[in-house]
Amino acid sequence: MNEKRRCRNRTLARGAVLTVEACGDCGALSLHLGGLSLRVQADAAESAWATLGEALHALHATKRGTLHPIGHA
Ligand SMILES: [Zn+2]
Repeated sequence: MNEKRRCRNRTLARGAVLTVEACGDCGALSLHLGGLSLRVQADAAESAWATLGEALHALHATKRGTLHPIGHA
């Protein structure tokens, strides 16, 4: 990656496993998860959040035996 300017991040939220920072310049979000850092745009983060919620919902439903995972329906 070849970035001319470094993002000026400020922490938005910090949890047990995930820290989320936002850049005051470009608005990108930085997700820090363990040793992994991921820079995404806010709308991509929202989409990822929705997908994660969907996945967890499906996981719990699968555990309850009320839904089969996608691809195994
Ligand atoms: Zn930035």
